[in-house]
Amino acid sequence: MPKAIVLKEFGGPEQMDWREVPAGMPGAGEVLIRHTAVGLNFIDTYQRTGLYPLELPSGLGMEAAGEVLEVGPGVDYVVPGDRVAYTSMPPGAYAEQRVYPADQVVKLPEDVADQTAAAAMLKGLTAWYLLHRSYKAQAGDWVLSYAAAGGVGLILSQWAKHLGVNVIGIVSTPEKAALAKQYGATEIVMADEPDFVSKVKEFSGGGVHAAYDSVGKDTFMQSMDCIRSHGTMVSYGNASGPVESVALADLASRGSLVLTRPALFHFIATPEELRAAADKLFEVISSGVVQIEVNQTWPLAEAAEAHRALEGRKTTGSTVLLP
Ligand code: NDP
Repeated sequence: MPKAIVLKEFGGPEQMDWREVPAGMPGAGEVLIRHTAVGLNFIDTYQRTGLYPLELPSGLGMEAAGEVLEVGPGVDYVVPGDRVAYTSMPPGAYAEQRVYPADQVVKLPEDVADQTAAAAMLKGLTAWYLLHRSYKAQAGDWVLSYAAAGGVGLILSQWAKHLGVNVIGIVSTPEKAALAKQYGATEIVMADEPDFVSKVKEFSGGGVHAAYDSVGKDTFMQSMDCIRSHGTMVSYGNASGPVESVALADLASRGSLVLTRPALFHFIATPEELRAAADKLFEVISSGVVQIEVNQTWPLAEAAEAHRALEGRKTTGSTVLLP
């Protein structure tokens, strides 16, 4: 019988239990996938703690790649043996096998390896929508990007550089600063820099066009202060805790700012949107514009250790769990 991680109660990594879970048979419109690589994402920790509530007991994990073993009635997009990847609700990717809706998978191009896909579907599509949809970054723009040596961060900087967009990357250690620069950040400001806002304004000639803030509670107001008049605040994560409330007057007083709080899944809501976005991602990966750095792997059974490392700011780039 295949094994999977089951979340028993909300809480710490110890709540994740590795046990036998039947995958079931694919019904109409579904496929049975044997996972070969599973992506680790910060959202997995929000779901584990209950910040984003789930019905318990629950599976965990939103991103994986693998091989189609069987298809249910009515499925014509894929056949057994196809290599596929996906990222979407509901959680449950931390599993050796899984039954999944066929219209939510994408077929993998030959030159995109399973581990690359598992490392890039959620994080790479996030970088795509941040740069192309939440704030449509233009050549010559300056943008702020937190966790610039992290999974989303490394991809966003490389893609931005390709678009001619200047990234001010925020990181917490000199090692992460070097990595972020290597992967395309134009300038670096350390997360604990006392003159944070002045530094950002100096680099960007008076303020950034957009702030991509994934840290949330601790950095929200600081990011708002770094944005030029008519710029955009994109608050897309809660690594330090959620932003509880915003006074609209704070947007007016900083020069009529635009504020958005996006979530990836609204940008890939239909199979057509998902496949079009994935095509863009695979294009930049295949052409070498974006390199997907899998800097850590753990056996899937040891996902708890991977959570500890991610939350402890010990990882860089993407992390993949291996079934
Ligand atoms: P990362 O690989 O970027 O890891 C998280 C990084 O956040 C850490 O390495 C650390 O980098 C930084 N960080 C800053 N403050 C804290 C803190 N208090 N606790 C822990 N880490 C902190 O993770 P992902 O690439 O998976 O995700 C990056 C962010 O993007 C997350 O906040 C996630 O929720 C968000 N996200 C949002 C999506 C959306 O659609 N809304 C989709 C995908 C991701 P450093 O030490 O350099 O500061």
